[in-house]
Amino acid sequence: MNSNFKLEDLIRKNLRTLTPYSSARDEFSGTSSVFLDANENPFNNGVNRYPDPQQWKLKERLAEIKTISAKQMILGNGSDEIIDLLMRVFCQPSKDKVILCKPSYGMYKVAAQINDLKIIELELDANFQPDVEKILQNNDSKLLFLCSPNNPTGNLIDKEVFAKLLSEFKGLIVLDEAYIDFAGDASMVKDLSKYPNLVILQTLSKAWGMAGIRLGIGLASVEIIQILNKIKPPYNVNVLTQNKALELLSNEETYTEKIDTLLEERNSMLNEMKTLSFVKKVFPSQANFILIKVENANKLYNYLIENGIVIRNRTTVALLENCLRISIGTPAENQQLFEVLKKFQEQ
Ligand SMILES: *Cc1c(COP(=O)(O)O)cnc(C)c1O
Repeated sequence: MNSNFKLEDLIRKNLRTLTPYSSARDEFSGTSSVFLDANENPFNNGVNRYPDPQQWKLKERLAEIKTISAKQMILGNGSDEIIDLLMRVFCQPSKDKVILCKPSYGMYKVAAQINDLKIIELELDANFQPDVEKILQNNDSKLLFLCSPNNPTGNLIDKEVFAKLLSEFKGLIVLDEAYIDFAGDASMVKDLSKYPNLVILQTLSKAWGMAGIRLGIGLASVEIIQILNKIKPPYNVNVLTQNKALELLSNEETYTEKIDTLLEERNSMLNEMKTLSFVKKVFPSQANFILIKVENANKLYNYLIENGIVIRNRTTVALLENCLRISIGTPAENQQLFEVLKKFQEQ
């Protein structure tokens, strides 16, 4: 338990007393046969009604999968919406500080810039671990963003590093677990009740294969979730997304099978990369992508494009000179990639 942490002090002053917008579906959420309260078009075409603003059915299903209470969950139009909400709830524009690590997911910085926040960007160490000392030197920051497994480096944050930050950082720690389903049993969700200063982000975009419907998940204490709900757009997750997610979440077997395939593919791709002479380093991965360091990243990147394959060039990113990030595709796609890489080696 972190005795430095006081949630009330972190919330932006103008939001502490805000009365949120109350929609028709907030004011009446029971069952009835005639709904004449929301100025909807009454003729049924499948989407003529507003969605449940709190997405309870979907949250109950996700809560079951993640073994957590639905009241500790907020859903967003992708995790990106929740990242923005966190900044808006806790940070005063042009005043408050957030701590980001680099290299990491680019969206934290863009969201912080959009919200006009003061950005403390700290380089990860040689093992891609956060710099605890420098983070704690900035202990007046409102939010600390950490990503584990980290995008684009693929590694998990060390448990001890994380434990120290959880007990000493005074602001909220936002832990992005977008890739956690590929990392075995490492999620912090089961420890959430111990840490009132922890917000976990997950998403249906990666392991669940639903990037197209935009559904992000925020998990935290009931108190944090309540304040986030207060300022989120009332109908931020549309009917089509809620229904499609419920449909696809019913098939946990397919989900597990696909993860197993991707993990097998990842491991063979890691091994294959080590056999290529122009690959200087293959970083270990706990995610559905791998990071490699090559002799000349730009040259290889362009060669792959010419051969119809697009990967992510990270060579301009701090610590990642000549590094490329490659998502794990289907077995056929991975095979195709490896063939082109061998051709590149032979030329
Ligand atoms: C892909 C990814 C996400 C997912 O974002 P959505 O908006 O939910 O699609 C979140 N965080 C990281 C680090 C990612 O790489």
